[in-house]
Amino acid sequence: MSSKSDGSAMTPLMRQYHAIKTQHPDKILFFRMGDFYEMFGDDAVRAAPVLGIALTSRSHGATEKIPLAGVPYHSADRYLARLLSRGFKVVVVEQVEDPKTAKGLVKRDIVEILTPGTATVDGVEEQTRATYLTALVAGNGRTAGMAALDLSSGLFLVDEGLSERVVERMRLLEPSEILCPVTLVDSAEFEQQYGLAPSDRRITKYEDFNFDYRAAVRDLTKHFEVSTLDGFGVGQSRHAIIAAGAIFRYLQENYRERLSHITRISRFDDAEVMTLDYSSVRNLELIRNIADNTEENSLFSVVNRCHTPFGARRLQRALLHPFKTRIPIERRLTGVSELVKERDLCYRIREETRQLPDIERFAGRLGIGKLSPRQMAGIKDGLAGALRLKRILADCRSEHLSQLFRALPECGDLVEVIEKALVDEPPIVAAKGGMLRRGFSDKLDTLNDSIRDARTYIASLQKVERERTGIATLKVGFNKVFGYYIEVTRANSGAVPAEYIRKQTLVNAERYITPELKEKEELILAAEEKIVRLELQLYQELVETLNRRIADIVSTADLLGEIDLVSGLAELAVARGYCRPGIFEDRRLIIKNGRHPVIESVLPPGSFVANDVELDEAGRIVILTGPNMSGKSTYLRQIGLIVILAQIGSWVPADAAEIGLVDRVFTRVGALDNLARGQSTFLVEMIETANILHNATDRSLVLLDEVGRGTSTFDGLSVAWSVVEFINEEKSARTVFATHYHELTGMAAIYDHIANFQVAVKKWENKVIFMHKIIPGGCDDSYGIEVARLAGVPRPTITRARQILKLLESGKFNQSELGQGVYKQRMQPSLFDPPVSETESRLKEADLENMTPMDALRFLHDLKKDLT
Ligand code: ADP
Repeated sequence: MSSKSDGSAMTPLMRQYHAIKTQHPDKILFFRMGDFYEMFGDDAVRAAPVLGIALTSRSHGATEKIPLAGVPYHSADRYLARLLSRGFKVVVVEQVEDPKTAKGLVKRDIVEILTPGTATVDGVEEQTRATYLTALVAGNGRTAGMAALDLSSGLFLVDEGLSERVVERMRLLEPSEILCPVTLVDSAEFEQQYGLAPSDRRITKYEDFNFDYRAAVRDLTKHFEVSTLDGFGVGQSRHAIIAAGAIFRYLQENYRERLSHITRISRFDDAEVMTLDYSSVRNLELIRNIADNTEENSLFSVVNRCHTPFGARRLQRALLHPFKTRIPIERRLTGVSELVKERDLCYRIREETRQLPDIERFAGRLGIGKLSPRQMAGIKDGLAGALRLKRILADCRSEHLSQLFRALPECGDLVEVIEKALVDEPPIVAAKGGMLRRGFSDKLDTLNDSIRDARTYIASLQKVERERTGIATLKVGFNKVFGYYIEVTRANSGAVPAEYIRKQTLVNAERYITPELKEKEELILAAEEKIVRLELQLYQELVETLNRRIADIVSTADLLGEIDLVSGLAELAVARGYCRPGIFEDRRLIIKNGRHPVIESVLPPGSFVANDVELDEAGRIVILTGPNMSGKSTYLRQIGLIVILAQIGSWVPADAAEIGLVDRVFTRVGALDNLARGQSTFLVEMIETANILHNATDRSLVLLDEVGRGTSTFDGLSVAWSVVEFINEEKSARTVFATHYHELTGMAAIYDHIANFQVAVKKWENKVIFMHKIIPGGCDDSYGIEVARLAGVPRPTITRARQILKLLESGKFNQSELGQGVYKQRMQPSLFDPPVSETESRLKEADLENMTPMDALRFLHDLKKDLT
């Protein structure tokens, strides 16, 4: 309550408002008044511009005018969605008694608190993305614990370990809200250790006492009805449990007491799945593109053939966490392969998945106690679809599909129950009744029957009275205040029968009632109230019936997601001509005619140039040289994408592929996107490179593009060289290194396990044609100058460039020498063409395309010897 001096000057309504508002000063209060949610004071000022609604003001009693803004209750979801997406939290206050029967001020109370991570407002959730509420706690030393919940589907994940890794994982989930202990956010190390700014809009500072191990274990074991959490494999993860407990506590505080759809808690299994780092996910454009951060032209958008939103969400999770071990990969591959071969089977499955509603999220609505009649019908359709799919899968032979068949719960009884209960097109909200089918409840039918005559009487009254009175414009209507009435225009009032009783006068008409009409009306209204009450009660019982089986519904949704995913991948494989990859325990990486799945899909059919990869012990590191725009990055990324696709159990864009399991994919690709953030390119590059050098293992796949480009030539070259050396000697990871430093091609001659490849380029009639074909050998080092010549750069400049190149390569240059050169060259070319050196002409004549790498190296050696 506000203080007495304030309160006495306020109207009772404002006192009621402030009593609630003071409990939630940081949130926006949606205060229900009749058909509107009103916002007052600062709330109105903050929300109005975000919602694009008018800001007005009103005085309440003796207080000054206060700002006011409101939204109609029936479109509140849309406005709530907008506020939540901007990081606001909203308290919804409803009228909790009927205004008609209330004595004095209508009672109001909080019914919901919506925060970005806990809301499941229709329209807030993106179709293909999960909305995670996460909690982060510090562990011992440099470790941390994390929990993440997608409330709308009930997916609940926890993680614990080195804080960098835990935070990296959390980033991948793109949480909409992050709970952190207050003292952690306020600590000096927070930003540095967790890479999160304390001012990050998504962070919710949560009192430290909410992060308590004992309370967490108590709440979680109670919720899951278990005596220990060991069964979920999280028993030993103390800090993960603390984080999970904090999430539960926060949900309870925010009016989410019911969470029956959260049926398990899972730990990220490091042995089972790989975690890609955030920069690789971005660089490889797995989920969104770099250019405008939308899903368009991402790997996800190209490979997603799922029909259901929950299948699509499953695919996203899979892409972010590919498997690391053979068994789950092979299992899914068997499913995809069977459906690739059995086209008819695949077609039948896809005809079914096409019709499935988002049963996963409906299960979530059921879980939090907010299932609408229409969503209940959705659950029925989902379960019925599952039954049909189960029959189709009964014939499957692959390990994966027959396992799915066996695992699908039998929910035929639930389908029947809902089918019998609900009308064909149930309403969106339960509150007004009208959702139950005739024949479902005798009591309900009797009630409906009891007023059938009265309803017919009213329905035909207009026609009957028009005929009886001869007033052709006579109307029968209903409004909340006066109930049913007969309306006659003023011009006809003379013809009104004597038994009509005048009730209301309008500008041009009079409204009447008759004793008989009143009698029927009372009958109807009394019965309708009973009908709605009974319907709600019966509906609630239905909801409880479903709730007792929620575990079955949740696992049905889960399995349907897998069926949708597998059949979608099969469809993709057929449509795009993918092949089944072989998965091996050794370190081979062999791809025949591999393609970049995204670029291939945007180029005209057949125009993408396929390329091979062959990494084994002989050439574990590929140094790839070629001019800009020749296709180096494309090649590099395509290897990463093919490996990721293979390891989620998908077929891959190639003619054949043999993939030795990769434990992590590291990328360091084009830093251009970081420029916008004002960080130095080179620094960003080195941070990412450092991460790779620290964390890569001999099973990793390392893709490096132009490392060292962000600094001066020799600096960059030296860094690039030593990075390759380090990876080769210390890590022996499979690596592709794209570079324009042709000097690096010299490494192949010095080290085992390093091979040179280049992108083929043709010069033809003064044009440079990029063949996009990767061939053995190092790139022609004077290529840049050649392009400059073909582009029409003046001859003297070209000649001078060659000279400088020579000096640089010989290592014998110094500033004065270069300076002299400039002078000389400036004088000479205007008079006559400079003499062509022997080295230069030998270079020009060399047929690099047909040289073996060894020949090329010898050639280079000779040239150099000549110069020294
Ligand atoms: P680089 O990394 O060498 O600068 P990119 O890999 O960015 O070159 O390729 C430049 C463009 O060339 C791509 O956008 C694509 O349109 C085209 N391209 C690359 N590789 C191929 C290929 N294998 N087949 C057809 N077009 C390709």
